[in-house]
Amino acid sequence: MKQQKYQVLKQYFGYDSFREGQEELIDTILQGRDVFGIMPTGAGKSLCYQIPALMFKGITLVVSPLISLMKDQVAALNQAGVYAAYLNSSLTQGQYFKALEFAKAGKYKIIYVAPERLLTESFLNFAMYADISFLSIDEVHCVSQWGQDFRPSYLKIIDFLQRLPKRPVVGAFTATATAAVRDDVMRILQLKNPKVVTTGFDRKNLSFSVKTGKDKDRELLSVIEEHGDDSGIIYCITRKLVEEVYEKLQKRGLSVSKYHAGLSDEERRNNQDDFIYDRKQLMVATNAFGMGIDKPDVRFVVHYNMPKNMESYYQEAGRAGRDGEEAECILLYSAQDVHVNQFFIDNNRENEELSDAELEAVKEKDRERLKKMTYYCYTGDCLRRYMLNYFGEYAPAYCGKCSNCLTNFEEVDVTKYARIILCCIEESRERFGQTVILETIHGSQSEKLKKNRMMDNSYFGTARDVTMERLKQIMKHLLASNYLTQTDDGYAVLKLTELSYDITVKGEQILLKLPKQKEITSYTNGVQLKKGGTKAYRNVAAGNSNPRLYESLRSLRNELARELNVPAYVVFTDRSLLEMSTFLPKTKEEMLAINGVAQAKYERFGKEFLREIQRYCEENEVDAKPAMAKSKYRWK
Ligand code: ADP
Ligand code: MG
Repeated sequence: MKQQKYQVLKQYFGYDSFREGQEELIDTILQGRDVFGIMPTGAGKSLCYQIPALMFKGITLVVSPLISLMKDQVAALNQAGVYAAYLNSSLTQGQYFKALEFAKAGKYKIIYVAPERLLTESFLNFAMYADISFLSIDEVHCVSQWGQDFRPSYLKIIDFLQRLPKRPVVGAFTATATAAVRDDVMRILQLKNPKVVTTGFDRKNLSFSVKTGKDKDRELLSVIEEHGDDSGIIYCITRKLVEEVYEKLQKRGLSVSKYHAGLSDEERRNNQDDFIYDRKQLMVATNAFGMGIDKPDVRFVVHYNMPKNMESYYQEAGRAGRDGEEAECILLYSAQDVHVNQFFIDNNRENEELSDAELEAVKEKDRERLKKMTYYCYTGDCLRRYMLNYFGEYAPAYCGKCSNCLTNFEEVDVTKYARIILCCIEESRERFGQTVILETIHGSQSEKLKKNRMMDNSYFGTARDVTMERLKQIMKHLLASNYLTQTDDGYAVLKLTELSYDITVKGEQILLKLPKQKEITSYTNGVQLKKGGTKAYRNVAAGNSNPRLYESLRSLRNELARELNVPAYVVFTDRSLLEMSTFLPKTKEEMLAINGVAQAKYERFGKEFLREIQRYCEENEVDAKPAMAKSKYRWK
């Protein structure tokens, strides 16, 4: 089974390894037990049901709320050589019955179905007699009224399940983690002893920043410019602003589309497709542009305004970098944003069924959430940590790539001071506590030091050039990492440990992430090691050995995608092209070792790309390819 699972992963999806949570979910489903997968956007939930679907004997039904989402997933599966179809209102009557006929004939392994179809006579007519092994419910939070996207038709799922002659295995998937939603899913869908798998919410490939400058347009333009031709989404708080920002960008000749609830259905659909199919590079939108946008290669999401709460922010920002490559999430904050959100809260009449008291309670909660969102824009702490803490997860104080970590923290080499501390303790024969030692090396003139003749210690005053605060931080680190201990007899006397000698004798280096020091400049040994900054995808691309080949593979890919009328990533992802242009595969085997190149895709497109690579190699007299290094997907 294990072997087979990996084979399917490689053959159909072209990947070598699973991401966190995927394997556990797949194994459980294959054992016939229900699952409930709670994983952040971009974690790879689709594979968790698609792989079992390919391995089960019978059919897999996937309930999904959005037409566009189904369409793209089915297109991607078809390209991968899987027989899949969708049944929703975008099909004409004729197409729908044709598809059902094929379904009855057992032509499809995976069928995506809109929830409102489940209880229709025609669909039941098929489902009652079909061999359904597995029912997967995507975006399962739609079943809950607590979620942001409640869809009453999701309530039909349980009815449907109960009508089936044999209950299939049920899998539920969502990125929404709140307890209320979780309880609703379990209760309403009556999952049977499900294995609940929750992966961390941290998205390491995303870097977060908040900008509070006055001129939002200038900030926005500089982000866009920095990103070259990367895809990006710009969220605005109102339709009116969407129109304004859209105009401004268009006037500058940028490739931009727009999306909000004021546009006609058709216009929205077209604009969304323009963006997903890479006909337009930028999308300016309200939060109506959202669920179901699983374009994997969005490289940046700019919030032109602060959204109403952290949940919305994380969800929207999370649409960046679903492919696991580096991506940026930038929030442009102004005080005005708070007022607009407050106005929305005060005038919230969304739910007419609520009594006045209930409505007031809802508003109170919303105000509280808005406050937390506002703090996010003001905090000097690590943004990633703030966010993860908000969602109830632990996180270290320094992520090293958010705007706060990059401006408020620095990595410093404190080896010199660590040595001074340890040596001073040793010379004074391990008789003192923290205060005496720190005051000694800092060169204090206290009575206590005089009494203990610490002025004679050869380390007296040798750490004068740093603040006491920093010395305390270093001391804390030495204690926490067992380079030092304290006696616990009430006096807390410092004692050396075996590890102390790693620093004093063996010369181990101690690097610490510390809040930036503003006042002291003569910090001789404090070398700043990291510049930081986020990496735009094109910088990664520029780092490969053949950027020109990368560009021509990209145009080949885009051309093919246009011909087939599928999004570009459905042909090959940027990552695949990047690897091709770096490793220069020459044979089928070498091509199959490229990340994202599966059997079926190789058969469809492989030769053309091999030819292009060969042509490039000949024209540029590039020698035998460098050793083929198997890439690891950079997710962890
Ligand atoms: P989710 O539904 O959880 O938001 P998706 O299922 O849309 O995420 O997956 C996001 C992206 O990650 C897709 O482009 C998918 O092909 C890719 N992906 C999923 N699993 C893996 C894996 N094991 N290795 C590499 N890429 C993966
Ligand atoms: Mg999904």
